[in-house]
Amino acid sequence: MKFIDPSEVTCEVCSAASMQRVDDLLSLRAICPNCGNALEAVGQGMRAMVDEFTAWVSVAGILIMLEDKLGVQFGDDELFETKTLRDIAQAVERRLSMASDRQARSVQFVIESARRIGWCTAVELALEVPVLDAIDPTRWERRSKNNGPRLEAVITTGIEPNRAATAATPSE
Ligand SMILES: [Zn+2]
Repeated sequence: MKFIDPSEVTCEVCSAASMQRVDDLLSLRAICPNCGNALEAVGQGMRAMVDEFTAWVSVAGILIMLEDKLGVQFGDDELFETKTLRDIAQAVERRLSMASDRQARSVQFVIESARRIGWCTAVELALEVPVLDAIDPTRWERRSKNNGPRLEAVITTGIEPNRAATAATPSE
């Protein structure tokens, strides 16, 4: 999923419009150049959109892998109503024979498939939380950490504070 980069954002405090890098918005570092308000609400809204899309792709990916592996088919309702890995395990379980270990095997199949999703970073896969939180729980934490120092004031005003100070000092 792609956002227009940079995106025009309207500050909810002072109503000023500014162009903001998508990376700054998603890492919650974007600042209104007019009033200094952190434009976090916009970034949080974008994160929610990315999450919704990624969660859907994750569930679809897991279901497709399971269909291939087990020779079964899942319905659209199962795709759209799946919230957790437990939901998928129960859908698998309904398709297995009545063997007494079918519940444990269903969970095992789901975990194996989830681990093959490209963005699965979790060591332990939680069954009872939203699928994306199970497979990539630290996605936004990493994004914020990897983004380096807060440079948004420099980017949006075009003035680097240290340079401005140097320029103000009379030179010999
Ligand atoms: Zn503002």
